[in-house]
Amino acid sequence: MIRFEQVSKQFPSGTFAVKSLDLEIKKGEFFVLIGPSGSGKTTTLKMINRLIELSIGWVWINGKKISDYDINELRWNIGYVLQQIALFPHMTIAENIAVVPELKNWDKDKIAGRVDELLNMVGLDPIEYRNRKPSELSGGQQQRIGVIRALAADPEIILMDEPFSALDPFSREKLQDDLLEIQRKLKKTIVFVTHDMQEALKLGDRICLMKDGEIVQVGSPHEFLSNPVNDFVREFVGSRKFSIQLNELITPVSAGEGFLSDTKTISLSTPVDELLELLESFEQIAVEENGEVIGIINRQNAVKVMSQYLRKGGQIHE
Ligand code: ADP
Ligand code: MG
Repeated sequence: MIRFEQVSKQFPSGTFAVKSLDLEIKKGEFFVLIGPSGSGKTTTLKMINRLIELSIGWVWINGKKISDYDINELRWNIGYVLQQIALFPHMTIAENIAVVPELKNWDKDKIAGRVDELLNMVGLDPIEYRNRKPSELSGGQQQRIGVIRALAADPEIILMDEPFSALDPFSREKLQDDLLEIQRKLKKTIVFVTHDMQEALKLGDRICLMKDGEIVQVGSPHEFLSNPVNDFVREFVGSRKFSIQLNELITPVSAGEGFLSDTKTISLSTPVDELLELLESFEQIAVEENGEVIGIINRQNAVKVMSQYLRKGGQIHE
């Protein structure tokens, strides 16, 4: 879908912001770019919609070089969400959402229908919100508009550059959940920049950790937790060992209820790092104690709990 082949970016100042990047982002994937400040995340993102022109190499979208696309066509078909809420202050919410559909000359009824549909999708009542100005919305609501505006003309790809990092923790959680829900429904290809590992672990199908313009590790949230390639990754994730107990990850089931008999089963005393490895192959694992299944561990849930745990600075043992 999006392919970087030996891509480098050198700014006129001489800085190589990105060095020989090889990367393939799949269709429908939620792909997270993470790394410390200055590691080249924004540069990588902006090369996709040519807000920054690459210096060396190629970027392909759907098998076509980005330099061969008409630049407007390219930009209109790629949604873009920034950290700074970039809504037009003098325009209503509906007008803000409609910017790209207007550019694409959609007819009025189609645009109005789309605006209402999108507002409903993120739990904002169109009747109440469509005619408001951005200043009449909270920060979290404004950023929600930023997200749906990027979706308005139904682009295949959405680029997001630290979209939630200016929000309070509560709004941030809420928008992350909304975005996951949207992604489940719409199956867009999302490239999402963050410097927050907890956010990356929660959202990403795959995560790419960058440092000094180069890739350190690409893999699933699991691979980052269970198999960091070096100390830099380990430090970025927190650590790979958890003093967390298996029973903190379990969703209880009452006897005989709701899981398939061929579900992989482990005992309650299984070490957590062993569990992490198993979760690589199994989406769900049943946990038994004294020969009885007491609960289910679900992959996504487990990763979420562990990443929250890391964020709280949970006690780690080697
Ligand atoms: P990140 O988004 O990971 O914080 P950036 O991609 O913004 O990193 O920047 C990567 C490197 O490129 C940094 O060293 C930054 O100073 C440099 N850089 C970014 N934009 C420019 C620019 N317009 N001119 C010169 N150097 C830049
Ligand atoms: Mg950046």
